[in-house]
Amino acid sequence: MSISASDLIVQKPRGSVQEAIAYLLTPSSKRSFTEAYIRELWRLCSLYNIDFAFAFAQFCDETARGTSAAWINEGNPAGIGIMDDGSRESMIYTSGEAAARAQMVHLYAYTIGRIPTSAELYNYINLDPRYDNVFSANWGGTVKRIEQFGNGKWASNPTYASQIVDHANAAFPNASGQPSTGGTMPNKPTIIQKYLHVSQDGYAGVNRRYQGANDHKIIVLHIQEGSSWGSWTWFHQVSASATIFANRDGSIWQLVPETDGPWTNGDVCSPTSKGQSIMNAYGGDPNYYTLSIETEGYASSDNAMGWAAWPKPQAQLDAVVWQVMDWMSRYNIPIERVIRHADINQCDRPGCPGDTFYNYVISAVKSNLGNGTTPTPPKPQYAKPVPVLDAEGNKWDGTKDLVVGKATFRADKRSVKTQYRSNFRKYATRKAAETRAPMEAEKGFSVLGWVNGEEINGERRWWITANYSRIHVSATHQKPNEPQLPLPEEPEDNTPQPEEKPDVVDGVTIINGRAYYSVEDLLSGKGPNGEDVIVPSQTLVITKDVDARRSVSVKSPARGSFKKGDEVKATHFVVGDEVDGESLWWVLETDDGSNPLRHGLRVPASATNLRPS
Ligand SMILES: [Zn+2]
Repeated sequence: MSISASDLIVQKPRGSVQEAIAYLLTPSSKRSFTEAYIRELWRLCSLYNIDFAFAFAQFCDETARGTSAAWINEGNPAGIGIMDDGSRESMIYTSGEAAARAQMVHLYAYTIGRIPTSAELYNYINLDPRYDNVFSANWGGTVKRIEQFGNGKWASNPTYASQIVDHANAAFPNASGQPSTGGTMPNKPTIIQKYLHVSQDGYAGVNRRYQGANDHKIIVLHIQEGSSWGSWTWFHQVSASATIFANRDGSIWQLVPETDGPWTNGDVCSPTSKGQSIMNAYGGDPNYYTLSIETEGYASSDNAMGWAAWPKPQAQLDAVVWQVMDWMSRYNIPIERVIRHADINQCDRPGCPGDTFYNYVISAVKSNLGNGTTPTPPKPQYAKPVPVLDAEGNKWDGTKDLVVGKATFRADKRSVKTQYRSNFRKYATRKAAETRAPMEAEKGFSVLGWVNGEEINGERRWWITANYSRIHVSATHQKPNEPQLPLPEEPEDNTPQPEEKPDVVDGVTIINGRAYYSVEDLLSGKGPNGEDVIVPSQTLVITKDVDARRSVSVKSPARGSFKKGDEVKATHFVVGDEVDGESLWWVLETDDGSNPLRHGLRVPASATNLRPS
């Protein structure tokens, strides 16, 4: 079976570095650069479970197999930031590694969503000038199959996907088609954060766990009855989850944060006396206090993969034992509360996870515990935060601004909440050491104010916590009241989203140089240039069928549409692309009451009953 357009992009990488190099058109003036690109692309595809055959074929389509001017002169592997109309938001990549990282950031955004701050890839977001555009178009994590690219997604060409598939099959004639049931995982005996559906809203709204509700009372062992890859795919189709997968190669995938109750063994049915006494003690739905391990493999040796039910690979058994002991230690869970899924459900799950396996884990843990002491896994080392001191050596308390050397600490005392799993650092840069373990999403903490630091995606502000750690403001729901301080000596090297840097000048909201006027301005009879205008009411009538867009450009994607006769409410107007001889656009109220300047749809005024005279 060969590669086809309906194949999933997030899957065990297909193809190989050797085949990819052989498929390049030769000779090329950038041969060594290109080979470095291919090796890095392979490494990142393996790390993030992106199909290498797809990613490399995309490169081949975009660069004429490594010979295009954009590749030779700019190192651009996939038309990143090069628009159809010839305009550019692109960068020049000076190494093959950087080119691969940029492509992978963009691919991750489209196929999985926001990159978690703890991922290596997070450090490369700056290489993709269009990362945020994927999310402002609401396309983050929406492309699951090759055929979903094209027609505006990544490229406007409607045959984009089929061209890529042709390259993939030509380059990797031996690649297997879907479904991929292969059970081998990246050969990394390590813990990989592979959260289910990390979405752009910081993982909220995905209904397969009790968020922040885990009391950590029991550890429950399960058997997947399949491969981790297959189970991972399955978990995206059902309301179920697990805390981790223990893979046959000895690696562990974290599927939901340990703070969350996974939906893993709430199917209580005729529990054993052990299971019943636990539920009597802690509650009827064990998912509120379970840490669960789904072990890759089967309870019976008679299975599709031909994997022996017993013994399981030693690396895998070691990983399970390690994880059990790590949790026992960190959450103070005694061995008596390490149980089988079968202890909760004897009706449907009497063989989960299989008693030979379970008994091995328990006796290995007991034997490792020796005289019964609790295991103490090595603790991570964290840096000590540095207090902000004034000239007299007093600690800054965030009640007023403080200038220390070249840094200005802006007072802005309050409580904020994390939006994503977030890192706390010693200084305001991602290179600085962490000062504590990452904080999970939706956790509150206090800040004294903020300071300008390393710029990430156009944002330079970093909070200073009450304990003097630094955390980038993009990691919290709340943002400082004041815009970041300008850095005149540094030219802006990227184009921020129009919504990202609002400012108010003389009562007019200015976003990236574009003025937004409120409807109140219109009511007072004042136009963009002070001219007299007709006085409208806030309600507009649509006079012809029209698309509503994300920004005031006919090139921005349509996010909805209105029919002639529809009524809409506008809060602002702004000058944008000319439509039917008129360049005024309305900014519409949002349904949820959120800021229209950030989230409101735009329609050209020429399609409404209210137009400037
Ligand atoms: Zn189970």
